[in-house]
Amino acid sequence: MSTSGPDATTQPRALPEVEVRRSARRRKTVTAFRESGRIVVVVPARLSSAEERRWVEEMVRRVERRESRQAPPTTDAQLQVRADDLARAHLDPVLGSAPRPRSVVWVDNQQRRWGSCTPASGTIRLSRRLQQLPDWVVDYVLVHELAHLVHGQHDDAFWRLVQHYPRTAEARGYLQGWADAQARGSAGPVDAD
Ligand SMILES: [Zn+2]
Repeated sequence: MSTSGPDATTQPRALPEVEVRRSARRRKTVTAFRESGRIVVVVPARLSSAEERRWVEEMVRRVERRESRQAPPTTDAQLQVRADDLARAHLDPVLGSAPRPRSVVWVDNQQRRWGSCTPASGTIRLSRRLQQLPDWVVDYVLVHELAHLVHGQHDDAFWRLVQHYPRTAEARGYLQGWADAQARGSAGPVDAD
C-alpha cells in the first residue's frame, strides 16, 4: 500500500511512434509490424481516414500485446498490457471482473519498495530495479499491486486474492533473498575468498 499520498502527477500513457503506409495493392487486409523502433501499419489505399484511425489504434494495441507476451515489459505501455493480462488470467476468474488500474508506470524514485498502489487514483508504480529480475517475479509484484485496488491492507483477504497467482510464494521468497543479499552487500566489506 502506498504512503505517497494523492497522485497529481499521473502522465498520460506514452504513445509509440507510428507510421501509416497506404498500399494500393492491399484491398482489405491491414498489417502491422515493428521497424527500427516505430510501429508500421500498412492499410489499403482506399481506407477512409476514420477507418484508418480505428485500424491504427487497433493494430498498435495488437503489436504491443504480442510484444508484451514475448518480452519482459520495459515501457509503460507494455507494463499496462501486462497488468491487464495478469488481471484477466488470475483475478477476473475470482472477482468476476477485477478493477483495472488507470495507469501502470515504471518509476526510478522507489528505492525501498518494489511497487506501490494508490487505490484512490488507480495508479500503480513499479520500481525500475525490477527490470533486472525474472519476469515471473515482476508479474507477482504486478498482481500484488493489482490486488491492492481491491484490498488496501495486507490482511487475509488480500493474501487469499494474491495467491491466485501461482508463483506467489516462490516470488516472495525470491524478493526476500534478493533484499537480504543487497543488505549484506551494502553492510561494508566482507571476507574475500
Ligand atoms: Zn502491498
